[in-house]
Amino acid sequence: MTSGWRLDAQAAHDALNQLKAATRILMPTHQNVDADSLSSVLALTIALRQHGLEVVPIISDGSLPHALEFLPGASEVLLYTRDEAPEYDMLCLADCSDRTRLGKFYKDDPSRLDGRVPIVNIDHHITNGRFGVVNIVEPSAASATEIIADVLAVWGTVLTREIAQCLLAGIYGDTLGLRTESTTSRTMRTAADLVDAGANPVPIVDALFRLKPKSSVCLWRKALEGVQWTGELIWTELTEETFAECGAQPSEAEGMVNFLAGTEGSRAAAILFANDHGWRISMRSLPVDVDVAAITAEFGGGGHPRAAGVQIEGGEAEKQHFLSRVAELIAEPRVK
Ligand code: 5GP
Ligand code: MN
Repeated sequence: MTSGWRLDAQAAHDALNQLKAATRILMPTHQNVDADSLSSVLALTIALRQHGLEVVPIISDGSLPHALEFLPGASEVLLYTRDEAPEYDMLCLADCSDRTRLGKFYKDDPSRLDGRVPIVNIDHHITNGRFGVVNIVEPSAASATEIIADVLAVWGTVLTREIAQCLLAGIYGDTLGLRTESTTSRTMRTAADLVDAGANPVPIVDALFRLKPKSSVCLWRKALEGVQWTGELIWTELTEETFAECGAQPSEAEGMVNFLAGTEGSRAAAILFANDHGWRISMRSLPVDVDVAAITAEFGGGGHPRAAGVQIEGGEAEKQHFLSRVAELIAEPRVK
């Protein structure tokens, strides 16, 4: 697929001017941090420091997944709430469609994101709330780092090997290694330019798609044993006990929903992560007429047409309602 998006260079200049006005910029990831989120934060941190700015990267909720430790600069990222957020007078968000994506960092004090501290907002979600003083939102970009690659070119940032490695990791993470429908010729060209700048795809592919701890095998076995069908929706549920029994981190379930979504006879897949108040649900679809962003939006969630998520509050009844409603929405249209 080709892609028609073009970065708004003026917005990129405006973003840098805003950021330059700050004394200290805080760069939080989204909750359940993934490769695109952390890579965006790390690449922007290195870049902005190159421009002489003070930047503090922080994981806003959860932990640093083992699989992302290889990213340049990952070891110095603060971990909210283990680490306190320092004083800051600017927020730079990437890959965050709305404020609640900041998880605990937002929930602990929603006023952090009420706009009093200006926000520079760089994202690729169609549902982005455009809550920044500058918004660079390109829904046809395959990853936030694909946009950031162009932003850095406008800023005149020197594309170091470290920055290139982060940006390529974000692209690989969100495109499953240049394989998703969102991958365009432009995505591939950006990836190729990053390789020319010194990025190495091998450790990225190994870390994101090949290497796994033993606990992941335990977790996947239990998840697959528990697979169920509601109509053409294939789904499984993972509880905190299952994670504890296997000694697995939440991020180790990454990839599982994609694996299920490729099952013949299914039109969509869901993983239900049980939590205190209900379930965090991760969804994927392969058929182009099944838009999981629209489906999850009906329940207050969102994301991309082929990959989306939502939090369902309540108990078994609410869960069953969600499953049967999704089955209804994804059902293949039948000729009457
Ligand atoms: P994942 O299933 O990997 O957690 O998320 C897939 C996509 O859906 C990501 O792009 C993510 O931003 C989005 N997403 C996941 N959960 C939610 C949610 O609760 N609300 C919204 N708006 N988007 C979500
Ligand atoms: Mn992303």
